[in-house]
Amino acid sequence: MAKPVVAIVGRPNVGKSTLFNKLSGTRLAIVDDKPGVTRDRIYGECEWCGHSFTIVDTGGIEPKSNDIILSQMKRQAELAIDLADVVILVTDLTVGMVAADADVARMLIKAKKPVVLCVNKADGVGELPPEIYEFYNLGVGEPYAISATHGRGTGDLLDAVVAKLPQNEIDAETEDAIKVAVIGKPNAGKSSIINRILGEERVIVSDIPGTTRDAIDTGFTKNGKNYVFIDTAGIRKKKKVEENIEKYSVIRSYMAVDRADVCLLMIDANEGITEQDTKIAGYAHDNGKATVIVVNKWDSIEKDGKTMEEMRKKITNDLAYMTYAPIIFVSALTGQRVNEVFDMISFVYEQNNVRISTGKLNEVLADAMNKVQPPTDRGKRLKIYYMTQASTKPPTFVIFCNSIELFHFSYRRYLENQIREVFDLQGTPVRFMLREKDDK
Ligand code: GDP
Ligand code: GDP
Repeated sequence: MAKPVVAIVGRPNVGKSTLFNKLSGTRLAIVDDKPGVTRDRIYGECEWCGHSFTIVDTGGIEPKSNDIILSQMKRQAELAIDLADVVILVTDLTVGMVAADADVARMLIKAKKPVVLCVNKADGVGELPPEIYEFYNLGVGEPYAISATHGRGTGDLLDAVVAKLPQNEIDAETEDAIKVAVIGKPNAGKSSIINRILGEERVIVSDIPGTTRDAIDTGFTKNGKNYVFIDTAGIRKKKKVEENIEKYSVIRSYMAVDRADVCLLMIDANEGITEQDTKIAGYAHDNGKATVIVVNKWDSIEKDGKTMEEMRKKITNDLAYMTYAPIIFVSALTGQRVNEVFDMISFVYEQNNVRISTGKLNEVLADAMNKVQPPTDRGKRLKIYYMTQASTKPPTFVIFCNSIELFHFSYRRYLENQIREVFDLQGTPVRFMLREKDDK
């Protein structure tokens, strides 16, 4: 199920990113501290009273610059209208209501977007200052006074947000289809490959309404299997102007990854991995999605016998946390190897859903510990008692041991590699959850 989206908009310096950080709490208590995962602090998860939603800081999208505040805010608001189910409009109590606040409020009202008005920097305790009342003039309902730095009032704010979230939205997605997000930089060739695939003779295509206002998913059947390409509206037709702003397309990519089973990370062979690629790939990894790295435009580069291996090495090096992802070299232009992409998608999808029996897991564990003894620290040795698979998507293993502290990253990586090798597990991240148990 796609999660509802809440966007934060407001002038520079009102405290949007402070609020974002407050609301998008820390992720899952899962032990997966792989180094090298880059995070973008504009997109996160929030949980409140049993509701979970995605939160986007539209202010983090462009670098701050004061002379273009208004146009910047307009673009933020447009984006929020486009993507979000509820908008938090942040204002500043210490400055009071200003014209730019009113402009944005008008846009939101016109678009009939549910708005929660937030008046930040109400740091004092006790009675609210009377200045709060002028914010009623914005015409978007009750102002919620908060202090993003102290956390004051954020509970009431979240109550108001949750009350405006869409109720029991029916998911239009087809359940048995593999959902695929095609991600990557503008011009990597996403639309070219999608159009090539959909343009094939035996592919039956249908449009499915996506979750956000103008998102369209494309369903199709190939070799008897059902697939959905997520959010193809901006991809299949040539995009709107705002999509050219890279960060805007980045947010859409995050949303697509959220809903996907499998991510196709499209890389332009001429450019290699960019910073933005590492961020979105890191997000897919963090969220346990299977990924295939698709190096496109293979026709356009000069090659000798070593080119492919060299590029493979470089990519593995740049995306060090994702060495499990298969890499395929294609040309959307000539069609070279495009068909193999499907085998890859099904393969990594299955791997993401794999179940390994407890018996087999513990055999591997015993073997692994025989080969390389668990580490010791100050005379104390790590003991691993037992391991079992707790869930899929991604495969998640619970390990019972005598000390989490002794369970160093390197030994975890060693175990992970052993499991991957024995079960030929590729294409999917795996997770380990560590549990301490007393020495019996
Ligand atoms: P943004 O530009 O809207 O994202 O604003 P920031 O989150 O970067 O905050 C701008 C400034 O306001 C920073 O110096 C924050 O520390 C400060 N700030 C944010 N929230 C509060 C608050 O609740 N009270 C006070 N006094 N300052 C705040
Ligand atoms: P998107 O922005 O990721 O959707 O990228 P497009 O599919 O619009 O492609 C960007 C440009 O790269 C276009 O000019 C395409 O014709 C070109 N292109 C896409 N795939 C290939 C390819 O495999 N080889 C070559 N040489 N050019 C390609």
